[in-house]
Amino acid sequence: MKEQILKQLNAFVDLFYPKLCAACDHHLSAHEEVLCLHCELHLPLTHYFDYENNPVERLFWGKVQLLAAGSLYFFNKGEGIQRMMHQLKYKRRKEIGLWMGRHLGKRLLLSKRFDKIDFIVAVPLHPKKEFKRGYNQSKMIAKGIEEETGWRWIDLLKRTENNASQTKKNKYERWLNVGNSFSIDTSILINNKNVLLIDDVVTTGATLEANVSAILEAGAKTVSVATVACA
Ligand SMILES: [Zn+2]
Repeated sequence: MKEQILKQLNAFVDLFYPKLCAACDHHLSAHEEVLCLHCELHLPLTHYFDYENNPVERLFWGKVQLLAAGSLYFFNKGEGIQRMMHQLKYKRRKEIGLWMGRHLGKRLLLSKRFDKIDFIVAVPLHPKKEFKRGYNQSKMIAKGIEEETGWRWIDLLKRTENNASQTKKNKYERWLNVGNSFSIDTSILINNKNVLLIDDVVTTGATLEANVSAILEAGAKTVSVATVACA
């Protein structure tokens, strides 16, 4: 009886606030979440996680040492994945990040190249940007991966405002400045740990590279990189 009422209530709410597919804007049916079945089946998978020396790994050659890297989907302009990213970043639809993370996590569990992960770390956003957006989309993706895989997400890195503000901090501050624009939480011990670094989209790999350097500098044994999409 109670279920029946809830169902009717949901249907009623749906009349005024229909759930729309994040890629094509069609109404979602009760069993669909974030994407309609058609869009979900047509997302362009890369299959990179299974292959050594894939194009995402090659972005980092000669720059930083990675155990493995890959992206789940191709980022094609004007297509579903771009529209999803736009809503995740600018329309406050953070559930899209969780959804992406769960799908990414499922794929990572199938890959033998990503079977030794201890911690998940998300690429940090500039604090002002995170405040304006309401959340860091990469963190939402990381939490989705944690849900699916059981690997622990840690809040290891933050982007620093600028170098001038760093000089004001005292030596008891647990955040240690690493590199030019990141600081690392020294209360989390990552010595000898295998870290998986997460971002939404990789293009040149420059931001990820700076993050990887910071994590290795802090003592991690290996770093791997996974992103939802690659441009
Ligand atoms: Zn759709």
